[in-house]
Amino acid sequence: MGVTIDLNAIRENKRRIEALGRPVFAVVKNNAYNLGMEPVVTTLYDEGVRHFMVTTIEEAIEVRTHAASARVLVMNPVYTWQHVHAHDFDVAIGSYEWLVSQREHLDGVRLHLKLDVGMNRFGAKTFEEALQIVAFCQNEGLDLVGLCTHFPLADADNAEVEHSVQVERFADWSRRLMERHTFELIHAANSAATLQDDARLHHCTHVRVGIFLYGYSSVEPVEWLVPAFYWETEVVAVHDIEAGAHVGYGTGYTAETKERIAVLPVGYGDGLMRARRHLPVHIEGKAYPFVSNIFMSHSFIKVDDDVQIGDRVTLYGVETKIDDVTRVGYANNSEQLCARSWRVPHRFEGGIVCTPPINQNV
Ligand SMILES: *Cc1c(COP(=O)(O)O)cnc(C)c1O
Repeated sequence: MGVTIDLNAIRENKRRIEALGRPVFAVVKNNAYNLGMEPVVTTLYDEGVRHFMVTTIEEAIEVRTHAASARVLVMNPVYTWQHVHAHDFDVAIGSYEWLVSQREHLDGVRLHLKLDVGMNRFGAKTFEEALQIVAFCQNEGLDLVGLCTHFPLADADNAEVEHSVQVERFADWSRRLMERHTFELIHAANSAATLQDDARLHHCTHVRVGIFLYGYSSVEPVEWLVPAFYWETEVVAVHDIEAGAHVGYGTGYTAETKERIAVLPVGYGDGLMRARRHLPVHIEGKAYPFVSNIFMSHSFIKVDDDVQIGDRVTLYGVETKIDDVTRVGYANNSEQLCARSWRVPHRFEGGIVCTPPINQNV
């Protein structure tokens, strides 16, 4: 009962992604997509991953605790430097302006030049700005080790042409920058882009993947991914209701005939997203639909005479996976993982011994 996180699945996904041709630069931001920083990083480090990406310094410190000799890259623009120097973090260059303004802190720091090909988040927006950054690093004797980008349209199913233009931009800028500088690490593809195996990204040294490590695809189903996340609950009450009766708060649901309704002790307060109700749950392999809404601590399903109090109910498992819900169109993969609360009992499978990261986001 509760949530089970399968660390062997994460191990296996890492191997299968690398079988596509490039080592993994593991994205473990947001508490490793809310699967638990310690168990996930420990597992990946044990499996040979030596490059991790996070967004904040706080996350980087956590990664360092479990991955002593890995490279840990902080993606958000950094303005406080004590921990960067103390823990030997890699840092992404947010812009030329940022670089110049932070110059006094940068000696000995491993820097990654980020190219902004369309996300408008961080990085050099033009080739000229990228050139300025490279020249500044060279003139100042800074340690520019990495070149990277992040494709905002790799997951979009309606923007292939635009995505391709952005890949082209990265390839073109990379080629011209590589004539002037030797980069030890070049990383661009997120999970979805990994599948495209675009020849224009063949100069990359790593794939910088998150969601594939955890077993889910935001684009088409990928049958070789192994889901890492399972969530079971149980039936705590069963009611036979009359035609015309409502279920839960409000009048959102009205029974059309006599119906049998089961109550589940789980809701959005546990991080079960309302989007989940668009697909059924399973009891003993049989599908039962949600009715009414998902409420804070409870939800309701329409059942038959087979269902009894105490029956185990699969919310996320073999029959319905995170990405199945994603494909219905109401929530994305990472959102469902991040929504889930550590209030729910958790269990880790897969042999890594660690402290369960309890109550991190309640
Ligand atoms: C989150 C993130 C990724 C990973 O994306 P996935 O789609 O989960 O593989 C890669 N790069 C950056 C900069 C990110 O913020």
